[in-house]
Amino acid sequence: MNLRDIKVGESARVTVVGGEGSLRQHFLDMGVIPGANITVVKYAPMGDPVELRLHGYELTLRLEDAEKIQVEKVEIPRDDEERKAVEGNTYSHPGFGEDGKYHDKKHENPLPDDHILTFALVGNQNSGKTTLFNQLTGSNQHVGNFPGVTVDRKDGAIKEHPNTLITDLPGIYSMSPYSSEEIVSRNFVLEDKPNAIINIVDATNIERNMYLTMQLLEMEIPVVVAMNMMDEVSGNGGTIKINVMEDMLGVPVVPISASLNKGVDELVSHAIHIAHYQEKPKVTDFCDENAYGGAVHRCIHAVEHLIGDHARKAGLPLRFAATKVVEGDELIIGKLQVDDSEKEMLESIIKQMEKERGLDRSAAIADMRFDFIEKVCSRTVVKPRTSKERERSLRIDRILTGKYTAIPSFILIMGLVFFLTFNVIGAFLQGLLEDGIDYLTGLLADFLIRINVNEVVRGLVVDGICAGLGSVLSFIPIIVTLFFFLSLMEDSGYIARVAFFMDKLLRKIGLSGRSIVPMLIGFGCTVPAVMATRTLPSERDRKMTILLTPFMSCTAKLPIYAFFVNAFFPGRGGLIMTGLYLLGIVVGVLSAFLMKKTYFRGEAVPFVMELPNYRLPGAKNVRLLLWEKAKDFLQRAFTVIFLASIVVWFLQSFDIKLNLVEDSRQSILAVISGIFAPIFAPLGLGDWRIVTALVTGFIAKESVVSTLEVLFGAEGGIETALTAASAATLLVFSLLYTPCVAAIASIKREMSAKWAVFTVFRQCFIAWIVAFLFSLIIRAF
Ligand code: GDP
Ligand code: MG
Repeated sequence: MNLRDIKVGESARVTVVGGEGSLRQHFLDMGVIPGANITVVKYAPMGDPVELRLHGYELTLRLEDAEKIQVEKVEIPRDDEERKAVEGNTYSHPGFGEDGKYHDKKHENPLPDDHILTFALVGNQNSGKTTLFNQLTGSNQHVGNFPGVTVDRKDGAIKEHPNTLITDLPGIYSMSPYSSEEIVSRNFVLEDKPNAIINIVDATNIERNMYLTMQLLEMEIPVVVAMNMMDEVSGNGGTIKINVMEDMLGVPVVPISASLNKGVDELVSHAIHIAHYQEKPKVTDFCDENAYGGAVHRCIHAVEHLIGDHARKAGLPLRFAATKVVEGDELIIGKLQVDDSEKEMLESIIKQMEKERGLDRSAAIADMRFDFIEKVCSRTVVKPRTSKERERSLRIDRILTGKYTAIPSFILIMGLVFFLTFNVIGAFLQGLLEDGIDYLTGLLADFLIRINVNEVVRGLVVDGICAGLGSVLSFIPIIVTLFFFLSLMEDSGYIARVAFFMDKLLRKIGLSGRSIVPMLIGFGCTVPAVMATRTLPSERDRKMTILLTPFMSCTAKLPIYAFFVNAFFPGRGGLIMTGLYLLGIVVGVLSAFLMKKTYFRGEAVPFVMELPNYRLPGAKNVRLLLWEKAKDFLQRAFTVIFLASIVVWFLQSFDIKLNLVEDSRQSILAVISGIFAPIFAPLGLGDWRIVTALVTGFIAKESVVSTLEVLFGAEGGIETALTAASAATLLVFSLLYTPCVAAIASIKREMSAKWAVFTVFRQCFIAWIVAFLFSLIIRAF
């Protein structure tokens, strides 16, 4: 029987884990190993995926993946609800590492005093990494990218310790080389060799979190464990015997609460100590020589003997290399450069182990790690009662992921977010900012006139740079507000739920549930939407989602719709706008199908995802995130958009012979539009003024309308240039054609220049085709 046969509320024990490659490794890393107990919690409202509970946390799986897990039914005593509360203050941590005090290590080759100590902050997703990083560094942080991949990289010096540099690695569950996050983290530890690792562990979810700890301890790099969320553990009557745990793990363990900033100072002093004196973990031998006849133990040690020299030569930690060889990690095996006969020997040792242990290689290693964790936890962790936080999460989830309430609540929440962003807060601030910018521009213009600056330069500054930058800068409030709500949703754990119940729908177009949020943001503005795709777990999903966001009609196109509805279809605005939004979605879905069948073939990432308890995000986290996004946007505004504004101003102010033009009809821009005009003729849009308006729409969609107003003079002209049918065609074209420069610049940043250019042409092409078909249909009636 497989996991699908288990009904909601029933439990089962895993017997065989099927699947292959990264999916299977992911199962194992998340604790789905033979012998694990799993309870089925609920199905998503659309019937797929399924939510499970194991090792004390919630996991989601797609049904087709659940089918790969063979189980037998068991009765599991109901959760640990009946446990007695234990008193005890879990913050006091009397031992400073080794039995109460540091060793005097002055004579043991500490790193020189002026050495900059480098740290890697490593932990599972949702373990409080960002919160801790912000506590440690405050605002001395620098955000960038790991080379070659769009995985955020944050560095910063620890507050009051200028000689330190801590790097926030992406949240990962394991050091397997499968997801780009895992590869980045693993390479960082192996190649950049930080002086020490700060491993943050979610104490409320300790079994699964320690799986990563086990692997970090093998790295031959000093480790300190930051046992986070201790407030929740002790608040619910649980406790962790820290000193016993330090003994068993051989590294300092510091209980902290990152969000309350408790224990963080102690963590810092430990981290600096172990890094300065290069105190390596004392225990790495997690394989129990008595467990299951010692097969795994013997195997790992035999492998260690065989590859000893190779590991040293390749600069790999021996124990880590050995377990990876046993797991079958091709990258590590390749790096070790073992010859064929040695390889054969290794394989036969591993085969023998598999036979004796009755599990395949990767499952045997995962099982060995979880065995050790269980041993540690049974001696050190007094589990709390079912926690208040978990009960609260269950209550919230009854509505937010309930069978009939999930989707309505989602629509309601998104509706509220959009309303507040685009109508209330964002719009208000945007208006304020626009007024401010206009005022400043006015001042600057007066000033330039007063000091008699050349008219051309004045034009450049006022009409080019100020107007261009100003229109983009006024987006900042909207972006910041949107990201405010988005980060609330992400950090609280809601986005994971949205992904859970939207997954089935999104899979139909080759994406996974997580893509829904960036696409929705696309209805607001493509720029933050493209930025929001950073939260997606796979490169393929991320790219595909970015390419789909331009189909979601952004708010900057609303003035265009309004303008033409007013002129040609008074009173039918609602109908036309709804039609346009739907058309955008339909064309987007169609092109998603096309992408899925061509360039983005293959499957969306396996949807093995954790559903964390709902937690309120800290104000500091939110503040720093907003500042980071705003800064990011500002940087871009002052580079790409700055240049673009100058170029456009130039094109519309000069004619081909570089004389200043009086009438924009003679400008280079008009000439360029003239070239494009024949392309638009079949659509009934050959008028050069229309084409110019569309071209300026590349800078910002709002300028389509302002350009039309300028070119057609005040009243009436537009009705003579267009018929109702061609106006409708124009609407369809503006819905779909290239996104504005700001959006293209984000696409370039998130993907590449090639993709950005491709997007411009692809959108124009699609827009033309659809508009042409539309005009044929409309003329037929
Ligand atoms: P990350 O995914 O590892 O970066 O985790 P975050 O730093 O975003 O934290 C996830 C959630 O846990 C946020 O809502 C935090 O406010 C919350 N959180 C972080 N540390 C603690 C803690 O020590 N105690 C409690 N109760 N919540 C915390
Ligand atoms: Mg985070």
